[in-house]
Amino acid sequence: MKFISFILLSAISTSSTSSSFAEEWFTQQDLEQAVQLRNQASGSPTGYNIVESLTTEVGPRLAGSDADKVAVEWAKKQFSTLGFDKVWSEEVKFPSWQRIHETGQILSPFPQPVRLTALGNSVSTPAEGLTGEVVHFNDLDELQNADADQVKGKIAFISKRMGVYKDGKDYGATVGARVNGASIAASKGAIAVMIRSVGTDNNRTPHTGVLHYDAQSAKIPAVALSNPDADLVIRQLNRGLPVSMKLNVETKVNPEAVSYNVIGEISGSTKPNEIILLGAHLDSWDLGTGAIDDGAGVGIVMAAAHYIGQLEKAPKRTIRVVLFANEESGLFGGKAYKKAHLKQLDQHIIGAESDFGAGRIYQLDANVKADAWPAIEKISGVLSPLDISLGENHGDGGPDLSPFQHIGMATFDLKQDGTHYFDWHHTSNDTLDKISPNDLAQNVAAYTVIAYLSAQMEGDFGKSAPEEEKQK
Ligand SMILES: [Zn+2]
Repeated sequence: MKFISFILLSAISTSSTSSSFAEEWFTQQDLEQAVQLRNQASGSPTGYNIVESLTTEVGPRLAGSDADKVAVEWAKKQFSTLGFDKVWSEEVKFPSWQRIHETGQILSPFPQPVRLTALGNSVSTPAEGLTGEVVHFNDLDELQNADADQVKGKIAFISKRMGVYKDGKDYGATVGARVNGASIAASKGAIAVMIRSVGTDNNRTPHTGVLHYDAQSAKIPAVALSNPDADLVIRQLNRGLPVSMKLNVETKVNPEAVSYNVIGEISGSTKPNEIILLGAHLDSWDLGTGAIDDGAGVGIVMAAAHYIGQLEKAPKRTIRVVLFANEESGLFGGKAYKKAHLKQLDQHIIGAESDFGAGRIYQLDANVKADAWPAIEKISGVLSPLDISLGENHGDGGPDLSPFQHIGMATFDLKQDGTHYFDWHHTSNDTLDKISPNDLAQNVAAYTVIAYLSAQMEGDFGKSAPEEEKQK
């Protein structure tokens, strides 16, 4: 009894002399350790070395390809080398798509070749290619509202250009043409769909990315022109003469491909069943080497957990890093993870995913219960020397974590400067030289801090707000 009241008294006296409420969440020692980790990670090359290794030794790793299998083995080996004490993989099944070849040319009025790429999931043209007149739409809505007689038998061309924003917000407004353009065009009788690349550059490097065929419409071939080639086709159309083009695309689908979510853990010391989830995706498109999408994320989250694993004293909670399979053609890894770990939802204290390149982080958003916001504020204090400001409590947890976030997992959202991300995204230009080692290290430092403090924190982050509530 005496002992208890002593504890009680000292607890009260600590809180009455403490300078801030947030010390109820973290001990001074934890905060100091986080600062030390931040300083170490922001000056270290580990994250960059991981992306360098993945892009150099594996390269493009389209889900279901032979290189994807090499990537899975690479990831397991990296986890072990980096000192993760548990490493395993979980099967993910999906139909895998493969590009064989693609070419395009303007036949008239002014014949010349163009640079294009088949969109992921696109069917093939006939072996000799297909030829048709181009009908132009400024955006997907215009196509949607067009009369079928305008479109029938033609190549539907959607030319909306993506705008440049730091947070990449125009992607959502532009990507619909890529995802749904083929089925909407097919429903009006088009023989193919051709879009302006969903990208912000002026390089002659077309941007691929996945499309979805709906079950009601015919599957027609779908390609993306590079931005300069989209401009070229428009200039020919502006001459007022019919423009006809030839497209030749060959692709292949393996309906029963298999890959793996590869998982590494730094086991918690006192709350090993409580999980801090860090994610990135291991697969990439086939055109580049998958450096910014998402080799950077792989390097960031692996390195962050690695630094925590190197501490003399293990963190209280477990840090789990999941490298998701096949994000690119429809979040297959994220959905498989949700299915396999549904019963452990409540053990997932918070999650964060890095999948937006290697630009510097400028803001910390989160999606936690309102009561836990003071903890986010305290974490933000440790991040502020990295020039990361405190944002808002309606963050998005990243694509692969979204299935888990939508059922309530709390998330961090470390917002990166994506001004140039969509110059290279899904193109042959997605290569290592686009990554600044310093910027990447800043990302690693931030992930190290959020993961470590979440693992040490007293209390919890509660649930993320459901979508409907977030709108308010
Ligand atoms: Zn990605």
